[in-house]
Amino acid sequence: MNNNNKIFRGDEWDVNLSFSKNHLNGNLKISNTNQRRVYKPLLETPDVFLRFAEIGFLYWDETKDTKVLIEKTKEFLNNFSYLHNLDIFEEISINPFINEAKTAANIISIIKLIDKNNTSNNSLISNRIYSLLEENNQKNDDGIHEWMIKTIQKNLQNEPCINQIESSNSNKGLVLTINPTSLKAAIWFQLANIIISKKYIKNCSYLLCKKLYSTTRDKRNYCSSNCQTRAKSYRAYHNLSIERSNKSKKPKKISEITSSKTYEPIIKEKEFIEEHIEMASIIRQPEIEYDPDHGFFEDLESEKRILGD
Ligand SMILES: [Zn+2]
Repeated sequence: MNNNNKIFRGDEWDVNLSFSKNHLNGNLKISNTNQRRVYKPLLETPDVFLRFAEIGFLYWDETKDTKVLIEKTKEFLNNFSYLHNLDIFEEISINPFINEAKTAANIISIIKLIDKNNTSNNSLISNRIYSLLEENNQKNDDGIHEWMIKTIQKNLQNEPCINQIESSNSNKGLVLTINPTSLKAAIWFQLANIIISKKYIKNCSYLLCKKLYSTTRDKRNYCSSNCQTRAKSYRAYHNLSIERSNKSKKPKKISEITSSKTYEPIIKEKEFIEEHIEMASIIRQPEIEYDPDHGFFEDLESEKRILGD
């Protein structure tokens, strides 16, 4: 791989954001490259497209709390870096980043709608697509789907991955690998893969997590066995049973929950309460076994075949 195609992570980022006349403006730049290292997003962070979409959802929420936006944007950049390599101290507008993230969020919304076979949110999504594109012909289900496929095609074309033959350590032969030339290329490759896969995209049912995750199992409710355990303890601690939760138990407001260092998208209070009710119904369900996910690949074998090792 030539040097231009290397993707770096581990830099520290500065994010500035402000509202002027109800419009969000800002810029970002790298402030420190001491921890910089090369990385392979398809291998190391198979869910980076979901983390990116979460940033998009955050901006769609149109919160005026720039502190949260800055914190979450910084967290993403510090973890995964920007869509393209930037030079240190090069300052760029944050707007292309926000629009890309919002587009990724729209695609995730559409995939979730297809999974649920639920059309009630279609108008919200078409309005969001419309507001990004300023095109007037996207107002029906077909339009939404068409927009999604077109957008993915366009981005796969503009930000391609490079195929290469590399030697494989495990079978001492050669493998055909897929190498994104930028983080953006990796994210669009992942989005394209999730579309053709049979996976579901869900929000973790543990209400202090709510993270997006992909799974082949329709009945799965948590992003990890860790969250399943934490949700169980939470219910036990708050004495949450099906009977009680219907009566007196008043859920905490989101502002009363102390935030942990893990990634937590903003939860609106209404959603929070809905989640509480949904959680009560989860109690009766049998325990679900988890196996490690291989990102968007169906199994370890196809992951190795495509990515190399
Ligand atoms: Zn979780």
